[in-house]
Amino acid sequence: MVNGKRNRVAKIIYGWVSKWYRGAIINEFSLPMRLLFKTILLVSVLILPLCQPIASQDRAADREVTILYTNDFHSAFDPIPAYWLPGEPKLGGAAQLASLINQYRQRAQTSFLFDSGDMFTGQLSFLTRGEALMEMMISMHYDAMAIGNHEFDYGSANFTRQMSLVPFPVLGANIYYKGTNHRYARPYTIIERNGVRLGVIGIIGGDAIGVVPAALVTDLEFRDPEPEIAAAVKELKDKVDLIVVLSHQGKTGPQQTDAEAHPDLQRDFDEDIKLCGDVPGIDIFIGGHAHIGIEKPYVHPQTGTIIVQTYGYGTRMGYLKLTVKDKKVIAHQGELVKVWSDQLKPDPAVAAKLAYYKQLVAPQIGEVLGVNKKRLVRDYRAESTLGSFVADVMRERANADVAIENAGGLRWDIPAGEINKGHVLDALPFLNYLWTYEMTGAQIREVLEHSLSLIHGMAQVSGLRAVYDMRQPVGHRLVELRIGGQLADDRKRYRVAITNFIAEGGDEYYTLMKSQPIEKGPLLSESVMDYFRKHHEVTPPTMGRLVPLNERDRAVPMAPKPPAK
Ligand SMILES: [Zn+2]
Repeated sequence: MVNGKRNRVAKIIYGWVSKWYRGAIINEFSLPMRLLFKTILLVSVLILPLCQPIASQDRAADREVTILYTNDFHSAFDPIPAYWLPGEPKLGGAAQLASLINQYRQRAQTSFLFDSGDMFTGQLSFLTRGEALMEMMISMHYDAMAIGNHEFDYGSANFTRQMSLVPFPVLGANIYYKGTNHRYARPYTIIERNGVRLGVIGIIGGDAIGVVPAALVTDLEFRDPEPEIAAAVKELKDKVDLIVVLSHQGKTGPQQTDAEAHPDLQRDFDEDIKLCGDVPGIDIFIGGHAHIGIEKPYVHPQTGTIIVQTYGYGTRMGYLKLTVKDKKVIAHQGELVKVWSDQLKPDPAVAAKLAYYKQLVAPQIGEVLGVNKKRLVRDYRAESTLGSFVADVMRERANADVAIENAGGLRWDIPAGEINKGHVLDALPFLNYLWTYEMTGAQIREVLEHSLSLIHGMAQVSGLRAVYDMRQPVGHRLVELRIGGQLADDRKRYRVAITNFIAEGGDEYYTLMKSQPIEKGPLLSESVMDYFRKHHEVTPPTMGRLVPLNERDRAVPMAPKPPAK
């Protein structure tokens, strides 16, 4: 700011002096005025040499830039009881995260706040179609966000409306209206603060697109992110000091509440590393979708790009402090800062907005549906009590032999105690419907084999018992399959309750894409609500449906270890 003012003063003085030389002023004024102008000239001649070097030093001087970031917030508005940590402290919460962000902002010379997508999911998101999230972001003064797959949970038209309501740029360089060269969102933006100019690009990747139900984005096509980033970098590089990419690509994050406590459950970020190697010129790459907590920033060995990402759910605030000189990052330090909810005073603006939305949806979620006797939990790579419970609900409702639900469809545990609609919507926040198919034993086997690849987690089941061997290659892991207690017959047709998400190719389940359902039922969430109303009391389901041949397979690593720095 100070340097910018100096520049402007120097320019004004320079303008006067050149006018004086041209005689445009001097001939029109009296002697005292001429003397005044001469004095100004004299002062100018003395000041200019002082001003100019300062102005030209601006770019060369070291600048301190702080980048704060989030990804995959997934509507984690309230602090999360971290039952996997000693003493079960609480982590995260929107108002607590906001106050931590503000603390860091106050300490920083120049700071920016970015998000890499997947703000949506959860009850408040479902009931406001994402509006509560966008409003929260306004209150937290985000500078830009990338579009994640979950921003399409209620369709592309809905998100168009949500995008139009926020004052900050929402970015998606590789999202186009189908069959056209018109983009759905802005590809990039330039943000200038305190004389620091950032070029910020947003993209979404193949895996993320693969989990968007096709019916929700019929008007869109998603192109390869790499050429889009390369083109944007080319356009931006002479105009900005640094280039930041907000990316929602890579492997789909594990859906398990305590995922951050399991290093072997963490995904890698190989695709981010590859992209940052293929496209030189990216200074900072803020990832998303994989939910991998990169505790210390990873520096690309070839291009020097700094790659970061959090575990998601607002349990950490991403912090990156840069020293910038001549449009280059010459030093950096960064970490994932834990959001200790109990030690942070909730930010009043965010807390007030949250209270407003909670009161708004209260009439819709307040009804007590029944009582849950024991917490139902998710497990992304094995059988789980929540998964089995939901599959049991589906099988009963559809009067089916078998029920199958994808692991990624379960978004939160169902706590013990009185259960209201909000609890069910947190666990099942999607527009996923219960469809019934006739499937052969061979088709069921195919679905299970895909699930056992663990690319999108292990499908949760009811009515069958599958024994699997993770030491076998993908596609050959199912050792034994029993349906209704009998060995499955590949040619026999079974009545199968499944979600339209799996049936329509979501999570790369392609088995049913050419088949038609024999029945289309209600939303999965409604089926579970009805089940609570009907049975009043829910006890944990029987386990032993998905049985590893070797007990160690129950915790098979999801990905190789992330590369060391
Ligand atoms: Zn995602």
